[in-house]
Order: sequence, then structure tokens, then C-alpha cells
Amino acid sequence: MQPETDISKLRNIGIMAHIDAGKTTTTERILFYSGFLHRLGEVDDGTAFMDYMQQERERGITIMSAATTCNWKKFQVNIIDTPGHVDFTAEVQRSLRVLDGAVGVFCAVGSVEPQSETVWYQADQYKVPRIAYINKMDRIGADFYHAVEMLKVKLKAKALPIQIPIGATETFEGVIDLIKMKALYFDSESRGLNIAEDDIPADYLEKAMQLREEMIETAAENDDTLLEKYLLGGELTEDDIKLGLRIGVIKNSLVPVLCGSSLKDIGVQPLADAIVDFLPSPLDIDDTKGYDINNDMAEITRKHSTDEKVSALAFKVLSDPFVGKLIFLRIYSGLLESGKTYLNPVTNKKEKILKIFRIHSNKREELKEAGAGEIIAVPSLRFTHTGDTICDLKNPIQYEQIKFTEPVINQSVEAKTVANQDKLNSVLERLVDEDPTFIYNVDPDSGQTLISGVGELHLDIMTDRMLREFGVPVKVGKPQVAYRETIAQKVVDEATFENQIAGKIQFGQVKLEISTADIGDGLNIINEISNLPEEDMRYLIDGVKEALKVGPQGYPMLDLSVRLINAEYLDGVSTPLGYKIAGSIAVKNASRKAGSTILEPVFAVEVTAPDEYTGDIIADLNARRGRMEGIEYQGDRQIIKAKAPLSELFGYVTKLRSISQGKASYTMSFSHYEPAVIKNQY
Ligand code: GDP
Ligand code: MG
Repeated sequence: MQPETDISKLRNIGIMAHIDAGKTTTTERILFYSGFLHRLGEVDDGTAFMDYMQQERERGITIMSAATTCNWKKFQVNIIDTPGHVDFTAEVQRSLRVLDGAVGVFCAVGSVEPQSETVWYQADQYKVPRIAYINKMDRIGADFYHAVEMLKVKLKAKALPIQIPIGATETFEGVIDLIKMKALYFDSESRGLNIAEDDIPADYLEKAMQLREEMIETAAENDDTLLEKYLLGGELTEDDIKLGLRIGVIKNSLVPVLCGSSLKDIGVQPLADAIVDFLPSPLDIDDTKGYDINNDMAEITRKHSTDEKVSALAFKVLSDPFVGKLIFLRIYSGLLESGKTYLNPVTNKKEKILKIFRIHSNKREELKEAGAGEIIAVPSLRFTHTGDTICDLKNPIQYEQIKFTEPVINQSVEAKTVANQDKLNSVLERLVDEDPTFIYNVDPDSGQTLISGVGELHLDIMTDRMLREFGVPVKVGKPQVAYRETIAQKVVDEATFENQIAGKIQFGQVKLEISTADIGDGLNIINEISNLPEEDMRYLIDGVKEALKVGPQGYPMLDLSVRLINAEYLDGVSTPLGYKIAGSIAVKNASRKAGSTILEPVFAVEVTAPDEYTGDIIADLNARRGRMEGIEYQGDRQIIKAKAPLSELFGYVTKLRSISQGKASYTMSFSHYEPAVIKNQY
């Protein structure tokens, strides 16, 4: 069967930026100009199409990354609207894993804010090709050239203007396209729909020629044929320049920079053109690497082709009030067909695909099939979670699990009325399903429910959703640090389990070693056992993992290794459950013998403030057990970087505001766990 989409005409892109840079406004314009939206919504009056969650409308921020498909010229563009707030970096990480390219949206006044640095560096890690869009050229203080400079200095990006602005602030009226060497003016009457092309105003000609030369030279450097033509003095055509730039973008060696004012409807269509011209299709990306689950996890790859066997990665789960659970899949290879059954190698369960949807923000279009490169959503998979793989039954592959930020903050939660308590539990189940950085636990002794997340705002939004989306009003306790523990030394231990459970003898035996690991290493399980059947082995590892959830002092364990040394196998007597219990007992005994240290979460803090406040800010951070990591100048402001324990950072926003008379801003994100300093309460 032939898929309906030509892979080379697909673009899977993310729009990433600091909060308020204009992602939503820009995305709305792209949807409008592509003909998909018939009128423009505005973020400010809460009618934006992409921001469909109620809190987003009220708070004006984008929390969930909504996937939206639109057509631009002959291309299909799948846009993932990634959130800008650092408390939601799990969303950003998740989308970066499945995107082929991204647009960085920056404010022409604020240029590179600390938060966009975080997201940009994450994109560097995932080697996502990017273009940059300097938005808000209409604002007072807008400075295109300064913003380009900041991209180079702060993000270490090889920023290359392919446009320059005509005017700035209230005189901003259009853009000069350095490839076509034309001035473009956007008619405000038609909300920018009609574009007039004109000669470049005389005042701008010199600057335009200079930057064009730089652009052409860089474009030529990316391709030998082009370089030869350029060096021999031949004129590069528009197509030559575009090709050279495209090659450079795809190998991450340059970032074309465009500009505009999305709010004033200036510059958006050229941005959409740049998305299809320069950002990669799935075919431009390396084959996808995964693991062969039948062969000791040896590395295997899949081509971005519908001729390959099906493989896809679940990167997002959403609870939809109409169809229930929706799972977003990036299809890496093959043709996923409705009505067929596939394998989830992570949970080892078969999953039947009942329906396939292409998602347009909050609307759905049903498809019979979807091919390699597509981003689609499927309902009613029962055993699939974020980060799992879906693949062909007979040709399994497992993609690397996405690494998420640790939940580091706890809060007790209870329903305001007893009648709602049961409902709260099912709501928590659903929220946990959607968000891998959100977990909940019920204390078996006190019966208290504890929710955990990656920051205060994260938990705030979650409790808010319980009320608004699910109608369960809740009372919450004070936020508290989520401690972990790690073992103090290496210990080898063994355990045998032999007992009757439910009328059947269960047997298992294992010898293992637990040892310390470096900060940030997480939990490693190294298996050296080869004489157990697959199922017994899986149960053994499950038992080990379960035991690691609660250490000797009652906290989840972290930063250690468990080496499974050997196991006794008795034919006809050994049982999977026996190994699970033996594994769990062995870990518990070994960690008790080893002794443990409590760990606390440490956050990276970045404060941006005018000069005169830095002394007080640093003194306050020191009092919070903060370690200074550096100070940078940015114009008349300073950026103070420090690491401090989360337990000392509660209420920081209020304190910072009073120290700096409201003139400082800050970001915080989880860094790592380290041995805790627990204060005595005398
Ligand atoms: P997001 O948080 O990145 O999604 O940003 P939004 O699209 O929600 O925009 C944040 C604010 O900036 C809103 O008040 C917008 O109206 C405003 N805004 C967006 N684009 C522009 C622009 O080009 N010029 C000006 N002056 N304001 C803009
Ligand atoms: Mg937004």
C-alpha cells in the first residue's frame, strides 16, 4: 500500500522559545496563512487556537505541547508547540526527541533570555537543526543586530541573517529578503495576507549587499560544487543559495536568522517558507537507532521508509474528554495501519491500533494508515506509556527511553470532600499516565496521598487541573523536598526464597552486588546471569527495581549500581515469582548492610539583575547554601549563576523581589542530587 504523504515533503518541527517570546502568536499566524484557520485568535483575549487548555488561556502560557498539522505550499508541516517554562522541560525534552528541526523564536528586545539558553542547549544535545526568528520588531527597544550578536555570543550559534528589518519599533514596516534582494511589505488591511514586493530602499542597500555577500559565502562553503562556482566568480542563483544554506542547517553548522512582528502580521510567511526550505525532512536525518530486544540489546537501525517494518515512539499521552487516552506517536519506519496489532517491547504486550488520528491542535482527522515520518495520535492503547516503543510483532526494536527530569518536590493532597476521595485517585492515575515527571504515592501508615513533580509551578498546575478538568477540589499541604538515598559502600549478598504462595511452591535464588555510583548516574542494573529463562530473568529484575524504590531509610534509592552475579536454577522448582522475591530480599539486605546516605535535590539558579543589586543577591544566595558558579555581564545587567539546595529556595521569588525592588528575574532548574545537610530541629 502506498502512503498518502511523500516523506521528503514532511517537516516535523518544534517552536521553542522563552515564555512570551511569541510562539503561540506566531503559530497562529502560520495556521492562518496556511488556510487552516479562517480567523486569527489572539493570545491576549484567550482565543488562541493552540492554547486549548483552560489554564493556558487564563495564564496565557503554553503548558502542553499540542501537535498540529498544516499544509504549507506542497509540504506537510507538523508543528509541536513546546512550552517555554523550565518547570515543563519534560515536555521540551519529549518533543525534541521526536522532532527533525526547530524554530527558535526570540524577542527583539530581550533577545536571548536565560530560559531560551536552557532549551537551546537541550536542542544542541539532540542535534536538532534550527532556524531563528527575531520577533517583536515593532517593540520599543527592538534591535535585530544586537539579537543576532546575542545568538552568537550566548548560544554559540552560527547565526546568519538571511533577512534584515526595514525600520524598527514603530517604524518597522517590512523585511528585506537577502536571497531575492527584495523588500517585502505586508498589507495590514488583509492581516498581512497580501505581500508587496519592492526594490530595496536606498538607505538599506549597502547593509543588504554586505550581509548578502556574507550569506552567499557561508552557503557556498557547505557544498563543493557551489564553492567552486563561487570561487570562480560565478553568480550563485537563488536555488544555489538555498541549497547551500539547507545543507548547512541540516548538518548543524549554521542558523539562518529571520525577523518580523507576528502581532503586527509582518514576516510570518517568509518564516514558513524558511521552515520548508531549510529544515530537514525525515529523509535528511540519520537512520533511527534502537536496540534489538532478541539479541542482547545489540544496536539496530531503521530507515525512514514505509518499506521498513513498523516502528514508532510514544512521546506523549493526553487525556481527552471525548476519546479518553490519546497517545502521540512519532512513526520512524513502516506504515502503521488501523485495525492491526503491534508489539510494545517495553511492556511486552500486544496493542491493537483501533484508530489513527492526525491532530490539528484540538481537532482530529481520522486516517486509515500513517507512514514513516508522521506524527499522529492513537486512542485506547492499554499498556503503552510515554517513552515506549510500538513496533512490528515479528521484528521488534526498542528505542532508547527518553530521560526525564526527576520529580524533586512533594506535596500532600486530599479531596475537600470525602465523597470525592475515590474520584481523586482515578484522576491521579490519569495525570500520572500523561506526565512522566508527575507521580503520586499513598503512605501506607498515615493514608496520606503525596504528589511529586519537578517544581512548585508544576504541582500548582496539576492541582489546578484536578479542579478545573476533573471537578475535584483539593486541599494541598506545604511543598516539601523529595529526598533520595544512596548506599555508602559496596556489599555482596545473596538471598534464597522458597515458600508456598497460593498453594504452589515458589523458588528463586540470586547473588548480587550493590555499589556506589557517581552523582547523576541514576540506577544501573548490570546483568551477568545467563542460566535463567527469559521470564524468570524479567521477574528477577522487576524484584530488584521494586526494592530500589524504598531504601533503608524509607526514600527512593539513586546513584548506585546493582550487579546480578549468579542465580541457582532448579528445573521444575524455580518460578518467576520466586526470583522476584529473592531479588527484592537480596537488594534490601545488601543495602541495609551497606548503610545509606540521604540525598537532597540541588537546583541551578540564574538571576538577572541590575548591577547595584548583585551584592545583596549573592549574600542572600550564600545564606541559602548557594555555591557561586559565575557572574556575567549583559549590558547594564548581571547574570549570577549558582547552585543551591531546593530546600533553601522555597519562597525565593518573594525575597528576590524585595531585595531587587522587583527588578531582578530568575530561572531555576533541577541539577542533581547530593548528600543532604539535614538541620537539627532544637
Ligand atoms: P508565547 O508565550 O511564546 O507563546 O508567547 P505569546 O504568543 O503568548 O505572546 C506573548 C505576548 O507577546 C502576548 O501578549 C502577545 O500579544 C505579545 N506578542 C507576540 N508577538 C508580538 C509581536 O510581534 N510584537 C509585540 N509587540 N507583541 C507581541
Ligand atoms: Mg504560548
